[in-house]
Amino acid sequence: MAKLDPPENAQAREELAGVAASLRAYLEWQQDTGAMGIPRKARTAPNATARADANANANVQAPPAPAPAPAPALAPALALAPPPAPAPARSPAPPPRSPAPPPRSLPVIAAEASTCTKCSLSETRTNVVFARGNPEAKLVFIGEAPGADEDAQGLPFVGRAGQLLDKMIQAMGLDPAKDVYVCNIVKCRPPDNRTPTPAEIETCIPYLHEQLAAIDPKVIVAMGNTAVGSLLGTKLGITKVRGQWKLYRGKFAVMPTYHPSYLIRPSAQQIEAKKQAWEDLQAVMKELGLPPKK
Ligand code: URA
Repeated sequence: MAKLDPPENAQAREELAGVAASLRAYLEWQQDTGAMGIPRKARTAPNATARADANANANVQAPPAPAPAPAPALAPALALAPPPAPAPARSPAPPPRSPAPPPRSLPVIAAEASTCTKCSLSETRTNVVFARGNPEAKLVFIGEAPGADEDAQGLPFVGRAGQLLDKMIQAMGLDPAKDVYVCNIVKCRPPDNRTPTPAEIETCIPYLHEQLAAIDPKVIVAMGNTAVGSLLGTKLGITKVRGQWKLYRGKFAVMPTYHPSYLIRPSAQQIEAKKQAWEDLQAVMKELGLPPKK
């Protein structure tokens, strides 16, 4: 008879898959930047380091160095010891890797994306929706994919969900045009606003990786399941991961939270979800050293 899998096992397996995905992404990042080996401690935003300890998805550290071998007993034995053998010949060191090229600039990435035909979403889009806001911002908000309004205007989050997002940003004491950068996992609208497929995400997400490398933000807010799952490689739902600091590519602090479209949809959970989303943004404000708001 088939054994039933207790829910804890399923969750543990998902978390393990998340760790593996994170490690893979981290190693890719290391490779992209031409680094060799894994540093003991990944660079993180200050407070994210401590929080990352509790973060199974992201906390990738090298094992502790082995304890030093006990000192050998010296004296008589040493006096009689034969002269030390010459060190064995070492194989030649590998040639140093050339440093990775600097990230491409945002206008260059945007220009390439604007004519992209790598997936079939290009056949139904009106505009490629690259980003809005300040490319020098320390805070980046990432959603899923453009909707109808965004597709028509070529800008992310300009519809109803975007209006709520702007209110949330303003409630943080920030200006949506000057203090943040807003973009999506996928740059073209999926027909009927369906969720982008894994293949579409995989095809499009290199643009986002490049955007983030060029911006080098201090904090990323990942909104909703698609943004969180695609950035962090987790299948855990947003209700499980929201509010917990994570790491993207071993160095960027990520705060997962609800997507504004979820928050504007009437539901029994809406009031509580809005309260939780605000708590998540308050944690972001603290991380950025912004003054607290009610
Ligand atoms: N939802 C998103 O995820 N992105 C947008 O740009 C608009 C709505």
